[in-house]
Amino acid sequence: MATQGSCLCGTMRYEIDGPFFMMMNCHCSMCRKHHGAPFATFAGAPASGFRWISGDDHLGHYESSPGGKRSFCITCGTVAPLFMGETVLVPAGALDGDPGIRLQGHIFVGSKAPWHSISDGLPQHEEYPPEFAGAKAVPRPSVSAESGKTHGSCLCGEVAYEISGPAMLMYQCHCRRCRKARSAAHGANLFYKAEHFRWLRGESQVVDFPLPEAKRFGCAVCRTCGGSTPRVSAASGTVVVPAGALDTDPGMKPQAHIFVGSKPSWFEITDSIPQFEELPPR
Ligand SMILES: [Zn+2]
Ligand SMILES: [Zn+2]
Ligand SMILES: [Zn+2]
Repeated sequence: MATQGSCLCGTMRYEIDGPFFMMMNCHCSMCRKHHGAPFATFAGAPASGFRWISGDDHLGHYESSPGGKRSFCITCGTVAPLFMGETVLVPAGALDGDPGIRLQGHIFVGSKAPWHSISDGLPQHEEYPPEFAGAKAVPRPSVSAESGKTHGSCLCGEVAYEISGPAMLMYQCHCRRCRKARSAAHGANLFYKAEHFRWLRGESQVVDFPLPEAKRFGCAVCRTCGGSTPRVSAASGTVVVPAGALDTDPGMKPQAHIFVGSKPSWFEITDSIPQFEELPPR
């Protein structure tokens, strides 16, 4: 039976016959910025068995490296599948079913976020694994941090911001909404006081998507590249920052896995960070 995938707003829908033959976590800075997550999980299957159901005319495209085109839903920012030769690489967080494959390893571990630790025993590759021999490594932006400030930016660099105060919370969220919004295994969200947050450039570039059926949930991405951006909530006086999009170390590590009750079957938590079925008790 085919496995289906869809975006957060429901415009983009597709199905994949499979079989899925690979599943890798990519820790490269471009994936982290595009997804706003600690890493992107891609499930690979033959491209010949991939079909759009809807929304393929509703995609934004951004060439993050020569020949490397990344696409996303222009309404909600969910990352679309990538095509690499005969293979389709589906962001596993956007899948609605179980692809029937489990994680095989980690790539671009040399670019891993400083606040994220890999705790499973799977193979780790500094860049591409040997199967991708000949593939070019991606350049990494080097960022120097001004003392006491946390900086972040989108994939194309048009949107940038800084935070001058400490983070209040950092949660890895496994809920379906965060998985779709980040097109990843889970989100890693930092919460700051809004008064400590400042856009440096590109605020008008940010597309905000408040999920219609949700009281508060929404996500925001850069119009040009689809990279995850912070979302300011004036009502609560807080700002939610997708940790994967940061250029500097926020000085906090994830404090909890939340909404673990909604975790997909294909993802296993292997670290010792506390887990909560939904929200932690106050
Ligand atoms: Zn969408
Ligand atoms: Zn990557
Ligand atoms: Zn951008």
